[in-house]
Amino acid sequence: MSCPDCITHQIGSSAFADALDASHRPEDLPLAGSIELTLNCNLRCRHCYIRYPGAADNEMDTAQVKRILDKLADAGVLFLLMTGGDVLVRPDFRELYLYAKQKGFLVTIYTNATLVDEAMADFLVEHPPRRIEITIYGHSEETYNYVTHKPFAFDRFREGIRLLMERDLPVFFKTMVLKSNRHEFEAIKSWVEDELKKPFRYDAIVNPRLNGDQDVLEERITPEEVARLQYDTDDESARFDRLRTLADQAPEDPRLFKCGAGIKTFHVDPRGMMHPCMMWRHTPYNLLTGTIDGWKDHVRNLRSMESPEDTACRSCSNRMACGNCAATSFLEAGEAGRNLDYYCAINKEREKLMDFRMFAV
Ligand code: SF4
Ligand code: SF4
Repeated sequence: MSCPDCITHQIGSSAFADALDASHRPEDLPLAGSIELTLNCNLRCRHCYIRYPGAADNEMDTAQVKRILDKLADAGVLFLLMTGGDVLVRPDFRELYLYAKQKGFLVTIYTNATLVDEAMADFLVEHPPRRIEITIYGHSEETYNYVTHKPFAFDRFREGIRLLMERDLPVFFKTMVLKSNRHEFEAIKSWVEDELKKPFRYDAIVNPRLNGDQDVLEERITPEEVARLQYDTDDESARFDRLRTLADQAPEDPRLFKCGAGIKTFHVDPRGMMHPCMMWRHTPYNLLTGTIDGWKDHVRNLRSMESPEDTACRSCSNRMACGNCAATSFLEAGEAGRNLDYYCAINKEREKLMDFRMFAV
């Protein structure tokens, strides 16, 4: 998972969201954040970045999660993503979800949908979320069950979707493009857009597991495939060109965090640890015992950090368009801010696509 799967997109663009954003002061906690209720899941996906021994140890109980929600609500957070693992494996999911709604959060739920039954679908009709986002792991039964390592997962996934869709709940779809399901990408996209008539988005870059294990990178598609899937449009080429020109005219950028981590988003994990985003986890702040003011100091310190002096990313022409960030480089190279071959190769492919389009005009 990378930024496309984080929470910034779910706020969307609307007069309401734009007005809120404009009145939001930089010293406030971000309007949108995420809370991971558990790292447990009923599936065992090949690419899953949170599936490793001990990942789900020492998770918060009901009262502790409520304490976190109280702190976030008091600090003015409005858009809250509840994610996992799968949130529906928590026996107290309904209680926590209702508590969040009572606190006034506009809640988005991420789920694989395989645990949605009639009762859960009816519950969500009675207490509707702002969005329900479902990840699709394959179009055929064979691929879906292969990716998720569960023989009956596909049927349950399709049934969960049917139950949510027939109740007209606000369901959105996305997929993670993997070596194991790449051949079904077009079929997944067409099923969502043409048959279900729903918006669709996808992420094509697999990251290492949060404990640093890199075996999941086996599921990465090639840099050329990433570039062709994500960036092969006139708009993307123009954007890439613009960002390259800007980067060439700008001085070297020593900042480690060039994104909105901590100022546009935050993430709370199942142990009550707060992070600037979902992928950066190695400077945890304990929000169970700490305060929002303490967190803000923590973020200020984090965001003043600099990348290594000898990293190619500081002066690279592609740095403003590149998906490599502090979190991805730490996970993959063990050093935040370090350049990564895979991302460099993706950007080289983008350059080729851009050149090709320019010559074609
Ligand atoms: S559904 Fe999500 S959390 Fe569960 S195993 Fe798959 S990727 Fe991991
Ligand atoms: S990872 Fe490579 S392409 Fe991306 S900013 Fe660093 S040097 Fe440039």
